Amino acid sequence: MDRIYLPVDIYFGANCVAQHGEHITSIGQKAFIVTGAHSAKASGAEADIVDLLKRIGKEYYIYSEVTENPEIEIIDKGISLFLYNKCDFVIGIGGGSPLDAAKAIALGAANNITGLDLYNGDLHQQCYPIIAIPTTSGTGSEVTQYSVLTNKHEQKKAGFTSPMIFPIVAFLDPRYTLSVSKTVTRDTALDALSHLLEGLYSVKRNQLLFPLIFEGIQLIMSHLPACLEDLSSFEHREALMRASLYGGMVIAHAGTTLQHSIGYPLTSNYGLSHGLANAVVMKGIMKLYSPAIQNELKQLFTYLHIEMSDFFKWIDDLGINQNLELEDEWIDKKILEIIQSRNMVNNPFIVEVDQIKQILKSL
Ligand code: NAP
Ligand code: ZN
Repeated sequence: MDRIYLPVDIYFGANCVAQHGEHITSIGQKAFIVTGAHSAKASGAEADIVDLLKRIGKEYYIYSEVTENPEIEIIDKGISLFLYNKCDFVIGIGGGSPLDAAKAIALGAANNITGLDLYNGDLHQQCYPIIAIPTTSGTGSEVTQYSVLTNKHEQKKAGFTSPMIFPIVAFLDPRYTLSVSKTVTRDTALDALSHLLEGLYSVKRNQLLFPLIFEGIQLIMSHLPACLEDLSSFEHREALMRASLYGGMVIAHAGTTLQHSIGYPLTSNYGLSHGLANAVVMKGIMKLYSPAIQNELKQLFTYLHIEMSDFFKWIDDLGINQNLELEDEWIDKKILEIIQSRNMVNNPFIVEVDQIKQILKSL
C-alpha cells in the first residue's frame, strides 16, 4: 500500500509571498526570522517577508548568524534569543542550512531543550509553527520533517527527524534563486537529483511519487546545464526549484540512503558542499544498487529516453570529479560512522563494509 502525507501548505511561483502571504496571519504574533549572513537579503526574500509582516501587523526579530552546515552552538544561541524575545513562530529564509536551523530552533524553544537534546525524540513534545522560504533549489527542506546539524566537537553531521518540524507553510519563489552562484547552483541541483534518485533506491519507495521522481530528474537534466550557462534565466531557475520541491516531497516519504550517509563525512572532513558530496558518489551508488532495482531504473531510463551510460556521461560533463585519494586509515574510521547513520536502514539491501570502502577508494 502506498500513501502520501504532507502537512505543508505550499505556494509556488513568482511573488507568492506578496500575493499569498496573508495566509500566515493567524499563525502567531512575533516572528523569529532565521537566516544566513547574506542570502536572505541578496535574494530579496527578507525584504518581501518584512513588508508582509508590517502589512499584517506582526512583530519580528531577525537572527542572521546561521552558517553552512549549522553547528549545535548556533541552534543553542537561536533558542535563547527566541525565548528572550518572546517570539511565537519561526520563519526560515535561505538554503537548507537556515531552514534546518529554523526547524531546530522552533522545536528546541518549544520544549526548552538544548540543540543536543534534539536527537532525543522523547523530548519532542511540542513545536512552534515554522514557515520556510527556500533561496536555493536543492534540499527540499521546506517540505521535510528533517533537520541536519553539525557537532563540531565530534566533527560529525547528523540529522534528526520529527513530524512536528514539517513547516506549516512554504513559499517557493524561483526569483529568490536568481542570485545563487554557479557552483552553489550546480551543487544544490545535484542534491535535489540525489533525493529524487533515492526515492527509487529506498526500501520505502512509493509508486505514487514515481511521476514526481521521473519528472524532477528530467527537469534537472534538461535545465541544469542551461542554467549554468545563463544564471539569470527565470525559466531554468523555476524548473530547478520545481525539481527541488519534488525531491523534498520524495525524501519526506522515502528517506535517504547510503548516498547521503557516505556524503556527510566528505562534508565534515573534506569541506565538500552537501550536494557535491552526494554527487561524487552518485555513479558508484547507482552501480552498487542497480542489481536490486533493475525494474525501477528501467522505468526511469525509459522515461528519460536514455541509457545509464548517458546518465553517467551527463554527470561527468558537470566537472565534479575531486580526486580526493582518501587515506585507508580515514576510510576505516569513517565507515563505522557511515554504517551507524539512520539512513542506512533505507538501502535496497544490506550494504557490506567492503562495498562502501570500494566507493570511497574510487574518489
Ligand atoms: P546552504 O548551506 O544553505 O547555503 C550555501 C551557500 O549558498 C551559503 O553561502 C549561502 O549564503 C548561499 N546562498 C543561499 N541562497 C542564496 C541566494 N539566493 N543567493 C546567494 N547566495 C545564496 O546550502 P544548501 O545546499 O541549500 O543546504 C545544505 C544543508 O541542507 C546541509 O546542511 C544539508 O545537510 C541540509 N539538507 C537538509 C535536508 C532536509 O530535508 N532538512 C535535505 C538535504 C540537505 P548565506 O550563508 O548567506 O545563507
Ligand atoms: Zn540532501
